[in-house]
Amino acid sequence: MENCLFCRIVNKKIPAKVVAEDDKILAFEDVNPQAPVHVLLIPKDHYASLNEIPEDKRGILADVLLKAREIARAKGIDQKGYRVVLNTARDSGQAVFHIHFHLLGGRIMSWPPG
Ligand code: AMP
Ligand code: ZN
Repeated sequence: MENCLFCRIVNKKIPAKVVAEDDKILAFEDVNPQAPVHVLLIPKDHYASLNEIPEDKRGILADVLLKAREIARAKGIDQKGYRVVLNTARDSGQAVFHIHFHLLGGRIMSWPPG
């Protein structure tokens, strides 16, 4: 989608610090990190949010989660702990409407989230 920020990152029209990339997934550093590790993971295909993922594309959700685990391991936070956040729609605070998972870690986190 031309006017989608994260599609533009996928298409290299906007720069990002890429952490991992394959044919289906892009992971890049969040521009406004909320923790020492703050990576965004997105499917390259455009879906606005979890609400728009079709049943027959469910595999991408598992693929992104396992990629988050891989990055957590590579960043050395897998054993200490980390959080994967998927904001969905207005009340969650979702600001970019291309589905993205936040991988957060490197500090102790509070619960419940705000
Ligand atoms: P959310 O509130 O879940 O929609 O999160 C959107 C996230 O995208 C925020 O954490 C922003 O800091 C991040 N973000 C916005 N623009 C960019 C960008 N150009 N590159 C990297 N991260 C971005
Ligand atoms: Zn998009």
